[in-house]
Amino acid sequence: MLELKNIKKSYKTGDFIQHALKGVSITFRKNEFVAILGTSGSGKTTLLNIIGGLDCYDSGDLIINNKSTKKYKNLDWDRYRNNCVGFIFQNYNLISHISILDNVEMGMTLSGVSAKARKRRAKEALKKVGLIDHIHKKPNQLSGGQMQRVAIARALVNNPDIILADEPTGALDTQTSIQIMELIKEIAKDKLVIMVTHNPDLAKNYATRVIEFKDGEKISDSNPIGKQEEGSKEFKIRKTSMSFRTALKLSFNNIRTKKGRTILTAFASSIGIIGIALILSLSNGFKIEIDNFEKTSLSQAPITITQQAIQMDQEMMEKSSSQSKKLPKYPTAKEVYVQENQFEAMLHTNKITSDFTNYLQKLDTKYLSGIAYERGTNLLVINKDSKNQYNLVSTMNVGNSSWTLLPTNPNKGEDGVVENMYDVIAGEINENEPGLILQVDSKNQIYDTVLETLGLSEQETVSFDDIMNQELKVVLNDDYYGQQGNLFYPNQDLEKLYYNENSITVKVQAIIRGKEDKELVTNGSGFAYTNALTEMVVEKNKESRIVKAQLETDYNILTNSPFDESTTKELMLGYLGYDTIPVAIFIYPKDFETKDEITNYLDQYNRDKNAEESIEYMDMAEMISSLSGNIMDAITVVLVAFSSISLIVSSIMIGIITYISVLERTKEIGILRSLGARSKDVKRVFNAETFIIGLTSGALGIGIAYLLTIPANHIIENLSGLTNVAKLDIIHAILLVAISVFLTVIGGYIPARIASKKDPVEALRTE
Ligand code: ADP
Ligand code: MG
Repeated sequence: MLELKNIKKSYKTGDFIQHALKGVSITFRKNEFVAILGTSGSGKTTLLNIIGGLDCYDSGDLIINNKSTKKYKNLDWDRYRNNCVGFIFQNYNLISHISILDNVEMGMTLSGVSAKARKRRAKEALKKVGLIDHIHKKPNQLSGGQMQRVAIARALVNNPDIILADEPTGALDTQTSIQIMELIKEIAKDKLVIMVTHNPDLAKNYATRVIEFKDGEKISDSNPIGKQEEGSKEFKIRKTSMSFRTALKLSFNNIRTKKGRTILTAFASSIGIIGIALILSLSNGFKIEIDNFEKTSLSQAPITITQQAIQMDQEMMEKSSSQSKKLPKYPTAKEVYVQENQFEAMLHTNKITSDFTNYLQKLDTKYLSGIAYERGTNLLVINKDSKNQYNLVSTMNVGNSSWTLLPTNPNKGEDGVVENMYDVIAGEINENEPGLILQVDSKNQIYDTVLETLGLSEQETVSFDDIMNQELKVVLNDDYYGQQGNLFYPNQDLEKLYYNENSITVKVQAIIRGKEDKELVTNGSGFAYTNALTEMVVEKNKESRIVKAQLETDYNILTNSPFDESTTKELMLGYLGYDTIPVAIFIYPKDFETKDEITNYLDQYNRDKNAEESIEYMDMAEMISSLSGNIMDAITVVLVAFSSISLIVSSIMIGIITYISVLERTKEIGILRSLGARSKDVKRVFNAETFIIGLTSGALGIGIAYLLTIPANHIIENLSGLTNVAKLDIIHAILLVAISVFLTVIGGYIPARIASKKDPVEALRTE
């Protein structure tokens, strides 16, 4: 049941108002062949578009199924077009980039008919119009008459109740026109066919009713509807929707026709992805590499507690910079401004007390691979050189470092820090015997001062045997210091001291060299002495005359001057071997995890201490790794930011390309709308297109980046010897593809919206 009631429609172009329809009222039968006849510009197409729901009327009413359409929403019109109406246009309006089978299927696709049923019905319809042999051709491979048959098949396939044909034979020759008209006449047997034409012969020969139009008004009707006739049967209306799969298929086919452009676009927009993927895979690889390196080589670097610790926290740095920032530069005032000396504030004096060493004794030894309590005790060492002269040896500055205490391993039966980090290349370490251990660097080098210490003559190469045969003597206080009144003085007769029976003979027990994978923390040279040596010396010196005398007086027993801040009585007693409070403590953790346990334990100690009493430790491993981690992160952020610019540029580019595609496909939008596609569906088609491009460019980018990591790894291997550094994290890869899809869809969103907002009539008009 279809009825037009006083329909008016006008178009406004500038100040000019064109009244296309000036109040048209027609009632159609459920089943008849109506020809609308009229000269060009009389409003026929406008009328047809309004009947088909492609265009809106200004006033009046269109009655469908006895219901007014005044309150119809877009969705209702879309459903009506899809189910009730089949359009046949003068210029066929086929979608050019899909096969004619797909063209015919499109209406059913929109109404959600299953693929199998779609194919069967489309083939049936194409058979009916005599095109069954051409179903896989594209529209431009057909003649005009054939294309119009396709359009007819498409109009029929959803089995609509109304067929609207706008000059269907207008572009065809007479012979073909007759064939098409026969076909339409056949259709009109059980449908309402409304055909617009300006050819009176066609109208009279085929139509059952001819309505004449002039200047937007009906001037005659050959077979108007009588009062008693009542259209009881209703048109069927189902809902339509386009699945995202259909949208993808449409877009995919469209993209296929523009392979070159699509590939170029995808490639261009993948460059940003390639850049970011490469940077991430490199930084990722380097991080893993640094991590491994730190785990293996830094894990056993000691936590160091010395008397002077540098304390440099964020707060202090900020304070010092903000303090001077407030002041103007180059002031003219005749004043100077005083600021806190930050370096002094950064220096923290650790007062290592027996309280602290007791606390440290309670640290679970399972965390430790070694520990060294270095004392301030001065070792009095004498050598006998190649010229048979005797020299007092400095234990403070040999080469660049002083003699150090060999760390002891608190866990018997397990490998300690020395075994873990060093190879013994000569002799054997015996912690329980007083002795020396000589450390050589990775090239077996030692400083010439080491030769001097041992009393060996200057030479370029020394054999292990020469070193290990050399004997040094450690002299005790009572033999070394003579007394005169209240003061003590050093004995000058070194030869006599060397041969003194109390003197302790020490030799180089072993020569050690840092293990290859621990080069960063072990590559150096110098002397270490066993704990047994200092134990033995301290044991004897504790009771020495000079110590007893020093305990009883408050002035320096060697210089006869009072103590001050830098030389305290405690330090002096320590130097003489009485006080055994350590001056430095080196704590060697087993690995990275136990290191945290140890630092936690040390932090615990400071919890209830004020600043003066607190013990600050230095964790070299932590410093190095946080530094390298921060630098890596900073570099990564900067590089990713740079590459992101190209990502943004490419999403703008995608936007432009989608916009061009929208312009190119305006006609297709119109066709889809005439077949009942909702504006949402149109948006979907273009979103699907950008989705495909985004996915392609993401996948392409990841693929290329992955391929590029191969030469990148070759170059890195040649430069640094590290293998397989660049590794693309799978999570990063997935994320980047997702970002690529997201950005391109965003870029194409506005053009897709523009497309969906297009007026279907205008879209159909574009060429
Ligand atoms: P017909 O199909 O009978 O040739 P139309 O229905 O296409 O005529 O057009 C009727 C009148 O409305 C014509 O004068 C035409 O110029 C005008 N017209 C149609 N569509 C538009 C439009 N979109 N904008 C302005 N004028 C229009
Ligand atoms: Mg027309």
